[in-house]
Amino acid sequence: MTTLADLQFDNRFARLGDTFSSKVVPDPLTNPQLVVSSFDAMALLDLDAAEAESPLFTEVFSGAKLWSASEPRAMVYSGHQFGVYNPQLGDGRGLLLGEVINARGEHWDLHLKGAGSTPYSRMGDGRAVLRSSIREFLASEALPALGIPSSRALCVTVGDDPVYRERQERGAMLLRLAPSHIRFGHFEFFYYTQQHDALRQLVDFTLQTCYPESQQAAEPVLDMYRQVLRRTMEMVARWQAYGFCHGVMNTDNMSILGITFDFGPYAFLDDYDAGHICNHSDHAGRYAFNQQPPIAHWNLACLAQALTPYVEVEQLKAELATAMPIYQAEYMRLMRARLGWAGEQPEDEELLQHLLQQMQDSASDYHITLRLLAEDDANARDQFIDRDTFDQWWRQHQARQARDTSAMAGRLACNPVYVLRNYLAQQAISAAEQNDFNPVRQLHEVLRQPFVRQPGQEAYAAPPPDWGRRLEISCSS
Ligand code: AMP
Ligand code: MG
Repeated sequence: MTTLADLQFDNRFARLGDTFSSKVVPDPLTNPQLVVSSFDAMALLDLDAAEAESPLFTEVFSGAKLWSASEPRAMVYSGHQFGVYNPQLGDGRGLLLGEVINARGEHWDLHLKGAGSTPYSRMGDGRAVLRSSIREFLASEALPALGIPSSRALCVTVGDDPVYRERQERGAMLLRLAPSHIRFGHFEFFYYTQQHDALRQLVDFTLQTCYPESQQAAEPVLDMYRQVLRRTMEMVARWQAYGFCHGVMNTDNMSILGITFDFGPYAFLDDYDAGHICNHSDHAGRYAFNQQPPIAHWNLACLAQALTPYVEVEQLKAELATAMPIYQAEYMRLMRARLGWAGEQPEDEELLQHLLQQMQDSASDYHITLRLLAEDDANARDQFIDRDTFDQWWRQHQARQARDTSAMAGRLACNPVYVLRNYLAQQAISAAEQNDFNPVRQLHEVLRQPFVRQPGQEAYAAPPPDWGRRLEISCSS
């Protein structure tokens, strides 16, 4: 265990120099308070839980103090936003404070989001509001607990600074952790600006720091691309299996590590709706729930384009052709586990589709229905309107399970009781906006163990009340 003051830094990305990022110091919050912190994320840095109580913790993570070894920098990147190339993006309101190296030799980027304006802020104020910071915090910690790879969140701080969105809100900062903050959009930026040497440098840096094993391959860049593609499609398979809708799958929000990244208007489904659009600004439904796998494939094609200086187009196309099969295999693996179907049978996809169609028709709660099925609870039937059709499906489901019962016992461990529903996040945010941080802390605590029924926490497992159904989440965070 280490203390905050003793963190060891090794700022590899900063050393790449000014072509890749700009030096910017954080603009601190006034009268900062700690809203919530994650002991699990602190453990990734070997930080003792007690460190969160120290005044220094709130100071450094609200931008008031820096370690002498940190080198805060805003990264430059670009990306395809809603299908259209935007040539100049970059960290408009976040800074890479530096890279901490832990006792296991792992590097963790410390990224302070909401740290003030940077050369990439465009028209923005460089700030983040309490609402969006809490939302990102909760998701960053809830997803890994469900087995979904994600960037992590160390803490949220809030200040007295007014920040203007649709209404006046409070400025906040989120400390995000990830082994790397390199996005698909980083490669696109250097490719489209024809900075050939810089692109090569970025590729080599990513190979060394994120995909060292690919360096041994006959074609390292091709091998790295293959790994990115596999990780990305498997991540999306997990989103689909657990009903997670990202909401803004622009290529600048796609991590090169294949982890869930840059949370905006995301949502977990409540009732099952394959075409659910969680982003209020996504009028065409480009990022609707059921579009996520093909969009991931589309984004991977954008990344492939930026790698064409190093890999034959035909080879990249061959890799891209594996994306949907990789997705489908992983998705079916997860859903079979959730339903207690051991092995693989030819009827599985149809049987699953039949269940999902009934959930869609009945507007059944996705998580509750699957959990009830996993518990062999007869109340699962009540989630459906057409009971005869359900009974028919259920007999087939039972017959499917009976073929090999070895997957039955594992069902509870992969069907969550607690899910970060929008209304739960909203309740915690409303309290935090009134300076009561207990609800967000309690919600975070419950979500650390989503698969275990926790005595006294039944309320967190409830379906949304009427006001909390289909909350529209705006992009202006
Ligand atoms: P996002 O939708 O959060 O992924 O952001 C897209 C781009 O807009 C990124 O380059 C962000 O850094 C930038 N951005 C978002 N919000 C702000 C803000 N309040 N101030 C400055 N830049 C922002
Ligand atoms: Mg972004």
